[in-house]
Amino acid sequence: QQSDSQRRVAVVTGASSGIGEATARALAADGYLVVVGARRLDRITALAQEIGGIGRHLDVTDPESIAAFVAGLDRVDVLVNNAGGAKGLAPVAEAVEEDWRWMWETNVIGTMRVTKALLPALAASGDGLIVTITSVAALEPYDNGAGYTSAKHAQALVHRTLRLELLGKPIRLTEIAPGMVETEFSLVRFDGDEEKADAVYAGLTPLTADDVAEVVAFAASRPPHVNLDQIVVKPRDQA
Ligand code: NDP
Repeated sequence: QQSDSQRRVAVVTGASSGIGEATARALAADGYLVVVGARRLDRITALAQEIGGIGRHLDVTDPESIAAFVAGLDRVDVLVNNAGGAKGLAPVAEAVEEDWRWMWETNVIGTMRVTKALLPALAASGDGLIVTITSVAALEPYDNGAGYTSAKHAQALVHRTLRLELLGKPIRLTEIAPGMVETEFSLVRFDGDEEKADAVYAGLTPLTADDVAEVVAFAASRPPHVNLDQIVVKPRDQA
């Protein structure tokens, strides 16, 4: 049994549900000491207890919250930038600015803030890995989603720019772009409308959060000289 100071450390943002929660479980099963964060502290605390990790409040739109979240994390081996989502999807003519700002603040600036705060700790690893959960919306247009698709494209470009900035340093970067995954994402994007949320998956079997978590764990399990740049994972029947 390794002591906590010897274990590899993983940080997962947005771990209170969906892909982040499943990823935290998968990395814990692979032996990582996992630090999990999100705004719903009750869920984070319960998850941390279950996986033997560390749970802390995290709001990626609040610099002070990020500073408190990363305090004392001097060596981080894996950072999973997962916190994010879509809100109020609608045509540009009907969408509201507040939702655009939420999507950019959370997906784009949130990823930049957390990554910036943890770069020294990732370098200290000697074999750091940054995984960013983007979306197929980072690769192509997305129905009624100008705010979301623009934010996800921007988040992906932040990640890909970091890949260039960090060349020559012992930090790997993997972008994972999922298609449809059944999580709370749909409820958030349709403001809690369950009927609309369920209708999204008509005619196909969506991915589970575990399907994506297994891809993250695979990327993390590669040797230090192997960089998986970008992985697109979709349900079989999604175009
Ligand atoms: P969920 O809604 O289940 O999870 C989103 C997570 O992000 C929650 O844990 C939420 O926690 C957290 N979060 C939201 N805002 C903040 C914030 N300000 N600070 C910290 N954490 C925050 O959806 P998914 O698991 O599906 O989404 C995870 C990622 O996957 C997102 O980036 C999403 O864009 C991406 N994605 C999802 C797809 C899907 O079909 N589901 C497809 C492609 C990409 P809390 O509310 O407690 O803060």
